[in-house]
Amino acid sequence: MKLSRQFTLFGSAIFCVVVFSLYLMLDHLQLDRTKNPSSGSSFPGQLTILQEKIDHLERLLAENNEIISNIRDSVLDLSESVKDSKGSPEVGNQSRVGYPELLASPPLVIPIQQEDCHFAAKPYNKPADGVQMLDVYDLLSFDNPDGGVWKQGFDISYNENEWDTEPLQVFVVPHSHNDPGWLKTFDDYYRDQTQHILNNMVVKLHEDERRRMLWSEISYFSKWWDSIDSQKRDAVKSLIERGQLEIATGGWVMPDEANTHYFAMIDQLLEGHQWLERNVGVKPKTGWAVDPFGHSPTMTYLLKQAGMSNMLIQRVHYSVKKHFAIQKTLEFFWRQTWDQDTTTDILCHMMPFYSYDVPHTCGPDPKICCQFDFKRLPGGRISCPWRVPPQTINDGNVKERALMLLDQYRKKSKLFRTHVVLAPLGDDFRYNEASEWDQQFQNYQKLFDYMNSHPELHVKAQFGTISDYFSALRPAAAVDPVSNTSPLLPVVSGDFFTYADRDDHYWSGYFTSRPFYKRLDRVLESHLRAAEILFSLALASVQKANKWNDFPSLENYKLLTEARRNLGLFQHHDAITGTGKDWVVVDYGTRLFHSILNVKRVMANSAHWLVLKDKGAYIHSSSMPLLQMVTRNPFLPLSLVIYNPTEQDRWSVVTVYVNTPRVRLQTASGHAVTAQVSAVWEETTRASREAFQVGKGLSLQKVQDRFILQRVKYKEGGVEHKVEVGFVWYGTTSNRDKSGAYLFLPDGEAKAYTPNHAPVIRVTKGVVFSEVTTTYQHVTHTLRLYNVQGIEGQSVEISNTVDIRGEFNREIAMRITSDLNSSDRFFTDLNGFQIQPRRTMAKLPLQANFYPMTTMAYIQESGVRLTLLTAQSLGVSSLKSGQLEVIMDRRLMQDDNRGLGQGVQDNKITANLFRLLLEKRSETFKPEWSYPSLLSHITSMYLNHPVIPMVVSPNYDSLTFAPLSPLRAALPCDVHLVNLRTIQAKEGAGPSHEVALILHRRGFDCEFSNRNMGLLCSTTQGKLPMGKLFSELSVQSVTPASLSLMHTLDGGRSQEEIQLKPMEIRTYRVQLR
Ligand SMILES: [Zn+2]
Repeated sequence: MKLSRQFTLFGSAIFCVVVFSLYLMLDHLQLDRTKNPSSGSSFPGQLTILQEKIDHLERLLAENNEIISNIRDSVLDLSESVKDSKGSPEVGNQSRVGYPELLASPPLVIPIQQEDCHFAAKPYNKPADGVQMLDVYDLLSFDNPDGGVWKQGFDISYNENEWDTEPLQVFVVPHSHNDPGWLKTFDDYYRDQTQHILNNMVVKLHEDERRRMLWSEISYFSKWWDSIDSQKRDAVKSLIERGQLEIATGGWVMPDEANTHYFAMIDQLLEGHQWLERNVGVKPKTGWAVDPFGHSPTMTYLLKQAGMSNMLIQRVHYSVKKHFAIQKTLEFFWRQTWDQDTTTDILCHMMPFYSYDVPHTCGPDPKICCQFDFKRLPGGRISCPWRVPPQTINDGNVKERALMLLDQYRKKSKLFRTHVVLAPLGDDFRYNEASEWDQQFQNYQKLFDYMNSHPELHVKAQFGTISDYFSALRPAAAVDPVSNTSPLLPVVSGDFFTYADRDDHYWSGYFTSRPFYKRLDRVLESHLRAAEILFSLALASVQKANKWNDFPSLENYKLLTEARRNLGLFQHHDAITGTGKDWVVVDYGTRLFHSILNVKRVMANSAHWLVLKDKGAYIHSSSMPLLQMVTRNPFLPLSLVIYNPTEQDRWSVVTVYVNTPRVRLQTASGHAVTAQVSAVWEETTRASREAFQVGKGLSLQKVQDRFILQRVKYKEGGVEHKVEVGFVWYGTTSNRDKSGAYLFLPDGEAKAYTPNHAPVIRVTKGVVFSEVTTTYQHVTHTLRLYNVQGIEGQSVEISNTVDIRGEFNREIAMRITSDLNSSDRFFTDLNGFQIQPRRTMAKLPLQANFYPMTTMAYIQESGVRLTLLTAQSLGVSSLKSGQLEVIMDRRLMQDDNRGLGQGVQDNKITANLFRLLLEKRSETFKPEWSYPSLLSHITSMYLNHPVIPMVVSPNYDSLTFAPLSPLRAALPCDVHLVNLRTIQAKEGAGPSHEVALILHRRGFDCEFSNRNMGLLCSTTQGKLPMGKLFSELSVQSVTPASLSLMHTLDGGRSQEEIQLKPMEIRTYRVQLR
């Protein structure tokens, strides 16, 4: 049978990583509200109100007049329905009739310790020499004048004798930028280019020990390593030991910093570092990010936590670069906004010019610098676009060429505060042919030899790695060793979005490009995390029961490792960004999809062991697994195992598909569970042939208006706010340069979405949720209200299924228009980790006011905040006071001249999922910084980490299962379990007996109402009792480590209690038993 019905059950799950089983019995009783004890008594007031509203709505729909103005009443009297469900503790208790054994009623007021509120409330102290990026934006005129040879800069002059006392020290850093997929797939690039680069490297670096090379992508390096023999591996190790080869950053890829979530950023860094530690034994000291399209302080924080002390960035707005160059602040300590001391500082070098290629790295004049890219010698495959070719260096020209190059080095050094200058020497996939190694290294060596042998030039030039450069810079800038002199370098806070490389070419298109894959990425992230946690718990439990050999640990660990690597690969700055060729996108998508299937297997295999009541009955059979994600045998009673992958107690709605409307649902102990059976829609107006409707179910009518959601009311206080959700179109400019995968170049302001046909509106009502679905030609827009206790009932769920496959140069956006007086201020998250205040600026073009949104964006006025939470990364803006706008998909028929060579025409039908949250705050906001509320954090977690249902195979119906609550108690509200990741064994491809416990203490704002939030947790000043963390497993040892496990930190073993600072992410090496 093709179809089935959607069956939604409303369940709860307790404690982190809760696995409990529910018995789903199919019998011949139609779900009847009068017979179902919990549906009748759970939410009496709420139901009545909802019932009335929906009846009212139906009358209106029947009348088919001014319908939309009234739909709001049914959909969005959020406040009333939520309040009624738990307006008082007594009501709350009653509503637990279905399963008293599971969840306590949420407290009326969350127990938050007053000390935990100080962090977000304290005043902001800007350091005396501090630079805030938002202030810089206020300052700049963004006028883009012609700067001469350095087009986006200015003329640089110097005095010949400036280096007489302290010679100029030049580090030329050879590098090869290897994209793990872009115009070719990862494997094709490896086969055609990367393997040759690395093979030649071993030979050519050994020829002369003065030569240096920098590498950063471990995805490639490890693939190559697997293919070489031990002799070659030893040769590589000796190059690293001698300092000739440096591994910078050491992540699996050089990740995008706009669309990536910090879970995946950490995971790819960990995967790269774990690989390095095991195979090469090297610990990267310096971050290297020459190509990501804008830079986030989240990456900075992660590098610092991973033990790195220096970093380099490149793609920053040309006006910002120029400003920093004038101020000589291109080298600075990048500090987190919330940091009140220096603990998050990392020394950062911002490259001053247009690109990381050779023409833009030796100095300000690309016409000159290009002549020192010896791959472009006449007769070669590439040449200099400035039409002056390089010359091979010989005795006859060495003086003239050396002076010419030295002039560029000197000018470049004038943009910095020390006499140490950095000149990267490389480009995309460079050094693939042996001849290029000879051309570059031999010619440069002659130039260096000349410079260094002429003391009157006062220069020492050499090949170096990026860490060689920083080692010379630190003492020169009085950073190291620590002395009485304070460092010469300033402190910078904030981020470097939105990037523009020239004119009004802002790279805000890639915040949305290929949204289908951005969503797929988030699905794999939540599944991988859920699988990692469950696998780690199962492994420890198996070990404790001495069943290590019975459990398929190796097989599952291999699947996890592959998923980590596929997810890691997708964090690359041409992958999650949506800026690869069509077939490369398909390659990424296939990897993500396979890994989602594989980690589901890991989850099922792990849950199998964990939920089994009699562990003696455990038998693993890969051909006949106990737990499945789908089942094809619908006629027997079925058991469902529901897995809550969050660290919080939780009431949540779980949806499964069934093929009969006659469903009864019970908990493991036989208590009935409230359930709602809804239709599954085959088409907009056609439900599945045997569709089942609860109550009066649904109505179909045609309406004319645009706004379905119109008002949102607080759950307390009764104040109503206008909140309209509509859709708009952007086109692309008629100028020569048009929007593409990277760039957003719209044809002015957006135009209202006016459908050709009146939309079809479908209303579903029920005891668990009610929703209104509006189907337009290009978007199916669903607003859903959960009628349940707790977090789920606090916000409106918005799901938009977008289909613009038939369009021509168009982008579709959802625009939320409210009556909030938010002025020109709005807030977006960075990587789901921190909030960055934004200002909409009229002096900037429209596309410059778009920013990446990974998990949320909000606007606020005194006392009110409206937050849009998202389950996928998209571009967002607030172009007018009271508005929030998010681009949902883009279809662009042309290339935007950044090398991709194609438009974006592989659009898919894409589901975008959001939640809209209106909150009341007791005080006015401080403008400098901002934090989400606890409710907002946890709503975001629900959205990104849904509960996971698994079906018990009918083959095992004789077995009994036990609910499992691995955590002794829910973690504090502000502590997030980022991951519980089993560490690889020292030998082989299997797991060790240790896990990496990664925790994040979220920063939150206490000034929001904390009454009736439905939160089931408290705060503890970041303290966690490690010895009492788990219920059945015991913690054998706890070793604090750096973020990616590279370094062991002080703090001793077996700490009874650990404490996290606000915003801190910490990793612990833990043995569970
Ligand atoms: Zn790249």
